[in-house]
Amino acid sequence: MSENCSGNCESCGKTCGDRSAPQSFLAPQNPKSNVRKVIAVASGKGGVGKSLVATLLAAAFARAGKKTAILDADITGPSIPASLGIDQEIQGTEHELVPATSRGGIKVMSLNLLLEDPASPVVWRGPVIAGVVKQFWSDVAWGDVDVMVVDMPPGTGDVPLTVFQSLHVDGAVIVTTPQQLVGQIVGKAVKMAGMMDIPVLGIVENMAYFKCPNCGAEHSIYGKGGTDDFAQRHGIDEVCRIPIDPAVSAAVDAGRAEEIRIAAMDDFARRILDKVQGGGAA
Ligand code: ADP
Repeated sequence: MSENCSGNCESCGKTCGDRSAPQSFLAPQNPKSNVRKVIAVASGKGGVGKSLVATLLAAAFARAGKKTAILDADITGPSIPASLGIDQEIQGTEHELVPATSRGGIKVMSLNLLLEDPASPVVWRGPVIAGVVKQFWSDVAWGDVDVMVVDMPPGTGDVPLTVFQSLHVDGAVIVTTPQQLVGQIVGKAVKMAGMMDIPVLGIVENMAYFKCPNCGAEHSIYGKGGTDDFAQRHGIDEVCRIPIDPAVSAAVDAGRAEEIRIAAMDDFARRILDKVQGGGAA
């Protein structure tokens, strides 16, 4: 045993014959944060509506009276501030950053709020990106938060892995489209959460159908995804299907994503919040 041994294997990165517990990669919360529950919104690939679902969930939680926050961990494609119409500068001291707040009262931290030119690409390597996400957890004074939604980086690579390991995630929501459900991409995202011991709270099939504004008929433009079958095979008991809707993308583009109301999403949000809160409203 090293003479500098603290006896705490979880915080030690050394390889040692006396190791009695695996190293924990969990990052500490900021002393000015009291985040009670963390829900990660993940997807196998980008462009499936992950950020939209993260925003819709957070908006539903906020409307239900929960103190809500969004940590935008999609560092190379941060879209949360624009979709909520937030362009205020982040305030901070050398010790901590203070998150921005949306019109609906959602606290938000995103790299886009810190960049001088949000239109410039973020050309950073994985460990740097993962380090920023950890700082968003540890160096941001989140205050009192009932539920934090994390917009995860897409995929199952190094960065989402580090995020899952660093933040105290209570459960994950997986977002997919009907096309992806047919392949193995979504299954991989579900399995990754399982390997991290993070329960999958539910699956959202985005762009599942288009509802004709004239006759009300529902058209599965991308084919029927078979979400229910997929969910059953992976032991997931909450499924939400949301339509592709030009009004949705128009609201996002106008910075008014909080105003989007999709009944199925509101019901889904209530059920998964019940799950992470242990069945009762906090
Ligand atoms: P991701 O986070 O997976 O990359 P986004 O949430 O940024 O995907 O969505 C990609 C684009 O598709 C955005 O412009 C968004 O407004 C649009 N979009 C997502 N879902 C829908 C939908 N159901 N109806 C219309 N547009 C959508």
